[in-house]
Amino acid sequence: MSWEDSVRKVVPYVAGEQPKQKDVIKLNTNECPYPPAPAVAKLAENLDTDAFRLYPDPDTTPIVTALAEYYGVKKEQVFVGVGSDDVISMAFLTFFNNEKPILFPDVTYSFYDVWADLYHIPYKTVALKDDWSIDVEGFKQENGGVIFPNPNAPTGLYMDLEYVEEIIKANPDVVVMVDEAYIDFGGKSALPLLEKYDNLLVIQTFSKSRAMAGLRIGFCIGNEKLIKYLNDVKFSFNSYTMNRPSQALGAAAVQDDAYFKEITGKIIATREWTKKELTRLGFTFPDSKANFIFASHKSVPAADIFNYLRQQNIYVRYWNKDRINNSLRITIGTDSQMQLLIAALEAYLG
Ligand SMILES: *Cc1c(COP(=O)(O)O)cnc(C)c1O
Repeated sequence: MSWEDSVRKVVPYVAGEQPKQKDVIKLNTNECPYPPAPAVAKLAENLDTDAFRLYPDPDTTPIVTALAEYYGVKKEQVFVGVGSDDVISMAFLTFFNNEKPILFPDVTYSFYDVWADLYHIPYKTVALKDDWSIDVEGFKQENGGVIFPNPNAPTGLYMDLEYVEEIIKANPDVVVMVDEAYIDFGGKSALPLLEKYDNLLVIQTFSKSRAMAGLRIGFCIGNEKLIKYLNDVKFSFNSYTMNRPSQALGAAAVQDDAYFKEITGKIIATREWTKKELTRLGFTFPDSKANFIFASHKSVPAADIFNYLRQQNIYVRYWNKDRINNSLRITIGTDSQMQLLIAALEAYLG
């Protein structure tokens, strides 16, 4: 017997690379290429640093209030965490607490199986169909809970709300989590379904569409009872997850809706341009409604293109993993970044 026998052993999630040098065109972690809302910069310059002596509000009232107002729900329906990773992790711990396996797609956000392993939650994956779409029927088997992103990652494919509802409807006895990290890039949120289903948890993040990955802000909205259970677990884990600046700056970001619409609109337009260019260069991809495109080339292996782009200081994401090892996930940057990407690809493939 050694102390190592009692270690909780996990294979950790691997995040995309954050390069040290500045001249990289960074299209590998789905961050926003534009700065956060102007109100955020203004508030950041005037932060009350004396208040850093004091613990933050454990109820995260400033940002919860802003989100409740924005989405037209009660404050008691909103839960905030340190990135949606923190929110999802707490939600797994809270709601996936039975013997039956939870379900998620086989090709999806690669953190789900890590949390399941960490918390010893049994799980089963549901294979995507050949066109990369989520197999709704596969989510109708007995299970201990359900989670899937919409749009899915890393495919970018969006599923119409009627299918999301079909999955929720088929699983009234467990919590169904819809991870909407990319919903602001053209999809319809499942939030209106909260009125019909008390077992639905909708999870979103400030990291992509609100340009604030560095502050770590995520949230979920559900019925009051779900949120109460979630808070009970959070307050048993760490009362002060979100720091003061994030609470205040996050609230300021939510209040500037015009800016939010402007940057998400720009990213959508750039994405559609990029799709046309990639098609012209011989790439195929599921039709993305996210801020990235999951592309494979008809003749050149994804790993080769990845290595070439890296030498050109253009970073995209590549996984040497079953089923997805011939695809690159390319984040949508600014117009000029995408023009440079296309020019580099043209030089390589042409
Ligand atoms: C980026 C992402 C998250 C987590 O984002 P946070 O930065 O932790 O808010 C969660 N789910 C999916 C599908 C993502 O792509």
